[in-house]
Amino acid sequence: MRKLGSSLLNAVASLSIHSPKCHSRRLTSKNLIVFARCIHDSGNNQKRPPWNYDKLSNWGYDNKRGPDTWHKNFPEGLGRQQSPIDIQTDKVCYDQELASNPLQFSYGVCQGAKVHNTGRSLKIDINQQSEVTGGPLRDRFHFEQFHLHWGSTNDKGSEHTINGQLYAAEWHLVHWNLKYGNFLEAAYHPDGLSVVTYMVKVGSEHAEFKKLTDACSRLVEAHTSVALEEPFDAAKLLKDDLTRYWTYPGSLTTPPLLESVTWIIFQELVEISQQQMDALRKLKFPEGQCMMDNYRPPTPIHQRTVRASFTGP
Ligand SMILES: [Zn+2]
Repeated sequence: MRKLGSSLLNAVASLSIHSPKCHSRRLTSKNLIVFARCIHDSGNNQKRPPWNYDKLSNWGYDNKRGPDTWHKNFPEGLGRQQSPIDIQTDKVCYDQELASNPLQFSYGVCQGAKVHNTGRSLKIDINQQSEVTGGPLRDRFHFEQFHLHWGSTNDKGSEHTINGQLYAAEWHLVHWNLKYGNFLEAAYHPDGLSVVTYMVKVGSEHAEFKKLTDACSRLVEAHTSVALEEPFDAAKLLKDDLTRYWTYPGSLTTPPLLESVTWIIFQELVEISQQQMDALRKLKFPEGQCMMDNYRPPTPIHQRTVRASFTGP
């Protein structure tokens, strides 16, 4: 189970989500059916060949298999609660309840954490008990993995935009609701996942993130992994001010694009250095090109409301 889950997580490099009542009815594509089987037959997964993984992997960021084409195999992508979106700050609604119910992070220090070139992103598995609750979250959510998206130049790379502005990269801290027992089960429930997000600009070096970018030279080829020799303090992915954020219901930003994600997007920016950005761009996609522009552009907001935990600029 764990092993298959990891493979699928790699295939789905970034996970973000939402959606309740009857996902079974909405699983119209073969790939999503395969994805569902992976979850429900997980007890037998060791006997299964990797063909399901291959199908889930058949997407990318180039012209032929890029975001504009994903809906053909993953019709969820045409849903009305997709991510990312453009956050227009003059249209968000301040929610007093968010302000009076602070986010509470309880993150551990990971030993021997595995870092992956997933073929779509750089990812680290969080292998220590780490949780978030509070704010828009009614339950406790387990911190599963961290990954990011970035551009070929520093003026693009984020998935969400703020008043139309793109950032150089976007950090995704992916969590699943503990009441569902595991990530894959949670991914099929509207309150199953939560992705804590930072927009990234190029500036000062980020010391903890440097442990990941230092590993990049050993992760150039797609689908490679290394174990970090030094401890990785997940809490250092967070900034000091945890009170100013936007939240809305959305989806994974990569196939299978399931609508199960409560997004939490901090207003404060994270900084990484130009050298760290350059290290990311030396990673390779499975097709051999340098990994960059691995982001999905904003999708329509439709009838959703973005709530803010704060007022003012
Ligand atoms: Zn992501």
